[in-house]
Amino acid sequence: MQRLILATRNANKVTELRAILAGAGLSVELVGADEYPDIPDVPETGVTFAENALLKAHALARATGLPAVADDSGLCVDVLGGAPGIFSARWAGKHGDDKANLELLLAQLAEIGDEHRGACFACAAALALPDGTEQVVEGRLHGTLRHAPVGEGGFGYDPILQPEGETRTCAELPPGEKNAISHRGKAFRALAPVIRDLLG
Ligand code: IMP
Repeated sequence: MQRLILATRNANKVTELRAILAGAGLSVELVGADEYPDIPDVPETGVTFAENALLKAHALARATGLPAVADDSGLCVDVLGGAPGIFSARWAGKHGDDKANLELLLAQLAEIGDEHRGACFACAAALALPDGTEQVVEGRLHGTLRHAPVGEGGFGYDPILQPEGETRTCAELPPGEKNAISHRGKAFRALAPVIRDLLG
């Protein structure tokens, strides 16, 4: 069976993509990057989600000799012209400080009324082959931003994004419900036929 590697050390992302690929009828063996512990992390020097996803996928494909999938995602706020965007994980300065990032964003939007609080989560998912072949697709989850966090689930900006047509925030949705509508779910589902075409 063809081995495919996903550029993440997060077991939940591996499980999510594995389920999506199985649902698309693809029989590939998906492994996470933690199966190759000596591979260094790739600096995300791109200026778009797609560039960063491709950088990570190419680096992993080169290092392992396997077809590689990588994703890059973030929150894009309309009134901020798409920011935090690629800076979502380090908006308040320190990489991965979800609480500080969310609090800074809420403070920046304090004066903005409900009618102008549109935002989306965006995700680019890339496939790279060891020979340099590449494909990248994107998925989005549109919604509006609350004025205060609500919900205990999820991570990052989930407690403030209320998806279109929902009364709950992403942090109130059970994981299965979020995956069904999420930017990452959409991007990975769009990548499944690309993987089938390129890997045969
Ligand atoms: P990554 O691409 O998974 O590393 O995500 C980058 C950053 O974007 C995260 O640290 C979060 O701040 C934000 N982000 C991406 N996806 C989500 C999501 O599904 N919910 C909440 N925040 C997200």
